[in-house]
Amino acid sequence: QSRLAGRNTFRFFDPAMQALANQRSLLEAELRQAVAQRQFIVYYQPQVTYEGEVVGAEALLRWKHPEKGIVAPGGFISVAEDMGLMEQIGQQALHAICGDLQAWQRQGLAHELVVAVNVSAQEFKVDNFVGRFREIIGKYRLHSHALKVELTESMMVDHVEDVIAKMQMLRSSDISISLDDFGTGYSSLAYLGRFPIDQIKIDQSFVREMEKDAAMASIVRSIIMLGQSLNLSIIAEGVETQQQRDLLHAQGCSLYQGYWYGKPMPGEQFVELLTTPDRFR
Ligand code: C2E
Ligand code: MG
Ligand code: MG
Ligand code: MG
Repeated sequence: QSRLAGRNTFRFFDPAMQALANQRSLLEAELRQAVAQRQFIVYYQPQVTYEGEVVGAEALLRWKHPEKGIVAPGGFISVAEDMGLMEQIGQQALHAICGDLQAWQRQGLAHELVVAVNVSAQEFKVDNFVGRFREIIGKYRLHSHALKVELTESMMVDHVEDVIAKMQMLRSSDISISLDDFGTGYSSLAYLGRFPIDQIKIDQSFVREMEKDAAMASIVRSIIMLGQSLNLSIIAEGVETQQQRDLLHAQGCSLYQGYWYGKPMPGEQFVELLTTPDRFR
């Protein structure tokens, strides 16, 4: 800026913008350190049947910041992606997940449990993504059907052949695929027939609106019917009330995840849920 601020020119200096730039570079430095020091942990949010059985969990990344405490992904994922750090962070998350699963299984828990792992576009794009994913699972001696991958529609727009090939590799390794945030992407419904997926995850925006908005409720019903006719499992995210769950159930939804069942929680707390089987009945 200063080289422009010669005689007879305006100095363009906005303190608010400067503050933002400083904040950003601080965050970047902290993120680099976080990766080096493995400050990432994973929380779990239960996935439950209508009858109240916990059949799985979504693993959700958290940053254990040395001063700020637990930070949710909204506060750093997009910056980490810009910096090209998501691949490493994703691998650290997967190590944490597999370590937890291994410990739980050794306690005789969670043998049937399927943990859903979020994978971003940047991670999925890496050439050997599936190989590395399987390698980590193998290190912990887990069955690969203990894991599920959550992908989003936005990842299925470019390099379609490559994406399909990777999806097929995952599934032939017994790792199933859930389509996250379903209904919020740009792509047409046609890809549902084209991409090998196992589950549709109805986005929370639909769940939130469906009680008040009849059109939204119809969309949800159509998504569920479409999924059923394609033999896909259907899970709803963002279920916050019993009414929402009942409405979804009436329309044929079979699995539920949301604050009504529990917010994302540390592994130790999640394991307590597994040992109290009547928790949601
Ligand atoms: P997502 O995969 O769609 O995850 C659902 C988000 O909704 C989570 O936010 C979860 O805490 C929140 N949520 C769950 N139930 C409710 C509810 O009843 N009401 C409301 N209002 N919210 C609910 P979170 O944990 O902050 O994660 C945000 C996003 O960050 C995730 O959206 C996912 O896209 C991304 N993410 C999380 N963990 C990972 C990860 O390990 N790797 C990658 N690549 N992305 C991740
Ligand atoms: Mg997800
Ligand atoms: Mg989601
Ligand atoms: Mg979502």
